Amino acid sequence: MNELLTKMFFGGFVRMHVLYHAVREPVFGVEMMEELGRHGYEVGAGTLYPMLHQLEKAGYLSAHSEVIAGKRRKYYRTTPAGEEALEQAKIKLGELVSEVLHDKPPTPSIRTDRSENHQNPNT
Ligand SMILES: [Zn+2]
Repeated sequence: MNELLTKMFFGGFVRMHVLYHAVREPVFGVEMMEELGRHGYEVGAGTLYPMLHQLEKAGYLSAHSEVIAGKRRKYYRTTPAGEEALEQAKIKLGELVSEVLHDKPPTPSIRTDRSENHQNPNT
């Protein structure tokens, strides 16, 4: 997947995706990369790990380490603040989906001044 697209749009999607899965069960970096790959996102360690740290720093994820087969593995879970952030993001996502995918804007025009008619300036 194109790096520019990732930078422009998918960063937020990936963060939401991580919060969504980490509500359900603890997740670690490698399996999260595989899960994102399954959805068609090519997110490498150099992108995902800074995001995980950023979400942790923001208080949206909490981390704990476990030693699995002699290797230290860091697991992440969504915190209550992270769940709240995810709920807010879901509302925004729902609005965006209905407008952009289903072409259902709340009003026909984003212009607030209805007296101006830019389509037909002579009327
Ligand atoms: Zn998923």
